Amino acid sequence: MRNHLNGTQTRIDAARGGKLDYSHFVHTFNEIVPPSEFAAHPDWFSQVDGKRTAENAQLCVTNPEVLARAIEVVRGWMKAAPGAAIFSVSQNDCFQPCECADCKRVFEEEGQAWSGPYLRFVNAIAAALGKEFPGKAIDTLAYQFTRKPPEKVKPLANVIVRLCSIECCFAHPLDSPAALDEANAKFVYDLGEWSARSQRLYVWDYVIDYSHSIMPFPNLTSIAPNLRTFVKNGVKGVYEEADYFTPGGEFAELRTWILAKALWNPEYDTEKAISEFLAGYYEDAQRPLAQYIRLLHDRAAQQTIHFNIWAGPDSPLFDEATLKRSDELFDQAEDAVHFKPAVLARVETARLPILYVELAHTPSAALLERFDRIARASGVTKINEWQSYDAWLAEMRKLAK
Ligand SMILES: [Zn+2]
Ligand SMILES: [Zn+2]
Repeated sequence: MRNHLNGTQTRIDAARGGKLDYSHFVHTFNEIVPPSEFAAHPDWFSQVDGKRTAENAQLCVTNPEVLARAIEVVRGWMKAAPGAAIFSVSQNDCFQPCECADCKRVFEEEGQAWSGPYLRFVNAIAAALGKEFPGKAIDTLAYQFTRKPPEKVKPLANVIVRLCSIECCFAHPLDSPAALDEANAKFVYDLGEWSARSQRLYVWDYVIDYSHSIMPFPNLTSIAPNLRTFVKNGVKGVYEEADYFTPGGEFAELRTWILAKALWNPEYDTEKAISEFLAGYYEDAQRPLAQYIRLLHDRAAQQTIHFNIWAGPDSPLFDEATLKRSDELFDQAEDAVHFKPAVLARVETARLPILYVELAHTPSAALLERFDRIARASGVTKINEWQSYDAWLAEMRKLAK
């Protein structure tokens, strides 16, 4: 509340000012028509290579029965959640769009964009429910195979498109020149195209490493510039997907601080955000930690080392000299606060990412036990979005000598 963080996952009730609430947040096709209905209605699901399937697939969005069902389901959601402002009608978290003749025809009509049939489907639901539920919006994704904008159809006024930056590099700002960062330049091109078509464009942005959430992710200086790029392109809302699945993620508290400041004021100076947070949270350890943050971010910028959200410990960012210097800085940081156990614990948590990389390079039993002691104290339950900490530890113990 103090930092004005808002969103569907914040636990802020009406007595504390309320929040912007979604009723159904994302990837809702399976909730609209569950795969269990496949046997009775195979033609409601994706046709892939000539065969209908409900396994890791989508709905047939040009089938009128699917549309009728979707309108009824979303009407039910809206009745059941009068306080919610946004209802997501969005593709499942996989590929395999329907390639039936009708879906394929719309794909072609829309300039070979899968977003075409999807957006026409979502618009039809929004048109059917708009009068009955004024003030409520239907949200959908421009994500992976639907990221390319359609040529003809535009989102209706009560439709929100959330464009997802999942393919991008976050070590460098999104608006970097194409010669430096091709993935980012392509995204910013699509951002401009969606912006030109939309009244209410949102971005679903990613701010951590999902394969290695306890690993240095040098994006702290990209967050605010990226928000400025969104603002410049008329973006009305942003969801910053971070580490929602475990405590002890890399610089989780600092990253949240930067996000809170920059989301409310995209001009907020990142250096200021970092230094004020380090001073308040790490106290006398602030100087070596500031040097450590600069070391990694400068190296990623100067050596043009890219970081997507699945980058691993084999990244060229982590050469021997950088790891050695990082260790020296963390030794200094721990020394500076060794008489304050609570602050020392925070510094140790901040050091886990470097230990994690060192363990990946050279699994040593002693280092692993040290990592485990700190990770337990930090409350770490997962090592990435899908693997439990205990499963990872068991694997590492087999490798460690
Ligand atoms: Zn189809
Ligand atoms: Zn890059």
